[in-house]
Amino acid sequence: MFAQPLIDALEFARNGKQIRAEVSIEALSRLSDLVSHSHGTLSYTVRGYSIGEVDMLSLEVVGECTLRCQRCLGEMNYPLNLNASLRLVDSATMDEVEAEDEIEYIEASTQLDVLALVEDELLLSLPFAPKHAAGVCSPAPESLQHSANPFSVLAALKK
Ligand SMILES: [Zn+2]
Repeated sequence: MFAQPLIDALEFARNGKQIRAEVSIEALSRLSDLVSHSHGTLSYTVRGYSIGEVDMLSLEVVGECTLRCQRCLGEMNYPLNLNASLRLVDSATMDEVEAEDEIEYIEASTQLDVLALVEDELLLSLPFAPKHAAGVCSPAPESLQHSANPFSVLAALKK
């Protein structure tokens, strides 16, 4: 079953609605541009809730994508595990809040594109220059350095 791609954000929050669905990486074109291949699917959950007068959406995305390591240009699996809470505000309030605190604000659209929201948050969460953990790159630059000059090691042993 496909989830409704557009939601009325405030109505969704106030009625405590929830969407749990999957999306292929391929379907997210901006994300597809960043990954080294666009196979695979991501699971996401969007949940609406209200705390008093405050209407919120929580977003959870779980999956894995493949990024290109900026050190060795090899592929690296990058687990995605995103949790975000977004406060819904109307467009007038949107101008006033401007990064006032750590809470993220989004405009409470009556036709909020859920997948675009999922993609926005994913793009924000990705590292600017992804790299393998130290020593994992292939070929690992450190081991090359060691084997490059075995004679200096021997010379040091002979002393
Ligand atoms: Zn690497």
